[in-house]
Amino acid sequence: MDKRDYYEVLGVSKSASQDEIKSAFRKLAKKYHPDVSKEENAAEKFKEAQEAYAVLSDENKRKQYDQFGHSAFTNSQGGFSGFDGFDFSSMDDIFGDILRNFGFGGSASRSARGGSYREDGSDLLYRMNISFDEAVHGSKRDIKVDTDEECSECHGKGGFNSHTCPECKGSGTVTRQQNTLFGSFLSRTTCPRCGGVGTSFERKCTTCNGRGKVRKNKTLTVTIPKGVDTGNRLRLSGKGEAGINGGETGDLYIEFTVKEDDFYERDGNDIYITIPLTIAEAVLGCKKMVPTVYGNVELSIPDGTKNGSKLRLKGKGIDSAINGKKGDMYVTVNVVIPSKLNKKQKELFKELSDTDLDSDSEFTKFNKILKNN
Ligand SMILES: [Zn+2]
Ligand SMILES: [Zn+2]
Repeated sequence: MDKRDYYEVLGVSKSASQDEIKSAFRKLAKKYHPDVSKEENAAEKFKEAQEAYAVLSDENKRKQYDQFGHSAFTNSQGGFSGFDGFDFSSMDDIFGDILRNFGFGGSASRSARGGSYREDGSDLLYRMNISFDEAVHGSKRDIKVDTDEECSECHGKGGFNSHTCPECKGSGTVTRQQNTLFGSFLSRTTCPRCGGVGTSFERKCTTCNGRGKVRKNKTLTVTIPKGVDTGNRLRLSGKGEAGINGGETGDLYIEFTVKEDDFYERDGNDIYITIPLTIAEAVLGCKKMVPTVYGNVELSIPDGTKNGSKLRLKGKGIDSAINGKKGDMYVTVNVVIPSKLNKKQKELFKELSDTDLDSDSEFTKFNKILKNN
């Protein structure tokens, strides 16, 4: 085998200090680490550097090497046996730094349920159709929603009797040593036993199958605030999806659509209705019972009320919990011209028309136009 000189491999002089050797090796390890390197023959170069470092970083082996060269570590079968007493813990320190620098190892490579990974639960949107009456007065409704909830059996942990993973000793990664013809080398991977979490359970939770959360169809009672309008959203804090690993639970939003009423119209907090009046009621004035959303209320119609007039009932609109304001109710008057008259009514109208009913200014104006033509 044509082995390169160890000093040459690391690019240091024969009198290099331990610090120089270590720093040289770090540089090469970063450059050629098989997990991150894109260099050609990176794996071989990495192994070569590792082997050189293993010998030169050990004072005794370095002395042997200085005296006997590569033959110092060649056994009788001709195989290489130089790494038997190698201290891998110091190697691990170096790899630890390197891997962290590249975003490997440590927390970054831990699985989704690992110690550092945290995710907030999603918000949910629920669309609810409600009646006009429910919108005005508020109400309570039971709804059914499917959400992820923390598993009550294991309290979101996924298992029972958690202990430090014996395989990785809590680090979440394992360093494997492989012996080859060219020497030993190390590789670091996610711990197969705990999946990188660093802890393992004596017993996995069967209720959630280790997920820590379970899909639940739950019934929620929603309090519909009075005054709610189409498009309003109500936030139910913490009623959305459960988070992962201590992440916050999402919120549940209820979006309302208010069904239109046959009789009442709404504009903000104000309510509009139209009531029919007879000609006599409009002309003479009257007291009318008007249905408000709070029950019937007597409304005074003044004499001479014109068709289409709008009268206000103060405070009889929507008392909104959304904006804390109270609306009014507006009553529009629709004077109905009778289409069917009995004999007596006809006589009375005739009698009425003989009187001077066209003395209003509107009639005089019109009459003037007629005469001028
Ligand atoms: Zn482990
Ligand atoms: Zn569970």
